Order: sequence, then structure tokens, then C-alpha cells
Amino acid sequence: MISFDIGVSGQTLTFTDDVVAHFERNRQVRFWQREAGGLLFAKLSLPVIEVCRATGPRRTDRRTRFSYWPDESAERREIEEMFSRDMYFVGCWHTHPEDVASPSHIDLRNISDCVRQSKHALNGFVMAIVGRAALPGSLFVSVCDASQVYPLLR
Ligand SMILES: [Zn+2]
Repeated sequence: MISFDIGVSGQTLTFTDDVVAHFERNRQVRFWQREAGGLLFAKLSLPVIEVCRATGPRRTDRRTRFSYWPDESAERREIEEMFSRDMYFVGCWHTHPEDVASPSHIDLRNISDCVRQSKHALNGFVMAIVGRAALPGSLFVSVCDASQVYPLLR
């Protein structure tokens, strides 16, 4: 399990071992491997937000080494299905072909679009980016609102 404090909110964001293992499997450790990504779902037992499922990548996503465009209708189906099982859509994840991940300009633009368009359980939206090096060191995690990205510290 990996845990992050969410600023001064007193809330903690955790990723279960299953989710961390899913990130591990999708790291772009070989040069031919393409970006992967999906959605993050959490159980809320405040002040702990436990990310317990990471979906994707899907065969219907568009993926290259340096880009990832999810199948949006698959995403909508996942959100409905998980909601019926009391798991809430809290954000998204994807990989980067760099040792330690950091958000690109496109990521920053996309995330603010997501925040504006989505209805979800949190005030912010979680963006996790998985680098090539070992976890948790290569993992970038942030909580975003429509105007800002707040990196979280372990
Ligand atoms: Zn990215």
C-alpha cells in the first residue's frame, strides 16, 4: 500500500497493493511498450480515500509510446458499473516512458477538462502517472481542481 497526505485537508489517499501491482505491470520498461492508462476507483471511508481498483488499458484505447487516448464510452461503462458496487470514480492514471514521471503540458490541459466535465465524489480529481523506475519512487500523484495541480508527497 502507498499512502499520501492530501495537503492540509487531513485526508489520506492510499493505493492498495492490487492497484500498485497493476501499475507495476504496465510500466514502460521496454522501448517498444506503449503508454497505458485507465480510471481509478476508490472506497471512501473518510478521512481515508482508498483507491482499490485501476481499470485499463483497454484494447479499444488509442496508444503510442508518447500518448494515450482512452476509449471514452468504455470509461463511462466502468464508472456506472463500479458505482453500482460502491466504488467511486476519483481520477485517472497513465504511464510515461521516463524514469520518474512528471505531467506533460497535455496532461495538465486534459486534467482540467476532466475536472470540469466530471461529476465525482471528491472536490479534486486524482491524477497518477507511472514512470519506468521502481515504484513508489517513479510515481507522480496529484490532486487537481479546474485551475491547479497539487502534487502529493508521501
Ligand atoms: Zn502524460
